[in-house]
Amino acid sequence: MTAQEHEGQQVLIVEDEPKIARLVADYLEGSGFATHHLDHGDGVLPWLATGRPADQGPALVLLDLMLPGTDGLTLCREIRQRWPALPVIMLTARVEEVDRLLGLELGADDYICKPFSPREVVARVKAVLRRTQGGDGTARGAGSDLVLDDEGWRALADGRDLGLTAVEFQLLKVMMHAPGRIFSRDQLMDHMYRDHRIVSERTVDSHVKKLRRKIGEIWPEREVIRSVYGVGYKYQPEE
Ligand code: CA
Repeated sequence: MTAQEHEGQQVLIVEDEPKIARLVADYLEGSGFATHHLDHGDGVLPWLATGRPADQGPALVLLDLMLPGTDGLTLCREIRQRWPALPVIMLTARVEEVDRLLGLELGADDYICKPFSPREVVARVKAVLRRTQGGDGTARGAGSDLVLDDEGWRALADGRDLGLTAVEFQLLKVMMHAPGRIFSRDQLMDHMYRDHRIVSERTVDSHVKKLRRKIGEIWPEREVIRSVYGVGYKYQPEE
C-alpha cells in the first residue's frame, strides 16, 4: 500500500492529550493522510455535522475513550447512529471495555490500547480503510464482485446492473462499507431517510427484501445480505 492511496484522506483525531495527538498526527501525515485534531468531546458531533454527509468529512475517526465533555463511548454510539459508514477506531487504556467497544451497541471498527506506538496506529488506520473502502473511487465488497458506482447510483454484480432504487442503493452502500458489521433497522432507517420522516421497521425489511431479490437474480447461490435474527442485517460476501 503506497502513501498516494491515502493522499488527501482526512483522519479526525479526538484526543485530549496534546503530546499523543501531535505524535499520531505526525505519523499519519508522514503516510500521506491529512489530519484534524479536536481535544474536547463536545466539539466532535458539531464538527462532523458540518462536513457530512457531503463526503467532505473525514475518512476515519480516531476516538479517545476518556475525554473532557462528551465521552468517547457516547460519541462512538452517536457517530454509528448518524454516520453508519464512517469508520471509528477507539483509543483506550481500559482493556475491559474492548468487548463493548466492538459490540453491536457501540460498533467501533477497531480499538487500540494505550500505550501504543504511532506506527501501530498508522497500520490500523490503513487496515480499517482497506476493509471499508475500494481504492478506485468505487466501493468494492471484500471478496465479492459487487461494485458500487457512486456517480451513477448503480450497483454491478459481475458487471451486471442490479437496477436498484435510490433507497436500495443507499442500503447496500451503508452495509458494504462495513462488511460483517450488523446494522440495526434503526441505523439503516437513519441512513435511508435523511429527513427523518417516520418509517416503520417493516419498511426497512421490505427494502432489504427487494434488494436481496435483485442480488439473488444474478447470484442465486449466494447470500451476501444476511439477516441476523432479532437484530438487523449485515453484508457478508464470504462465509
Ligand atoms: Ca484521554
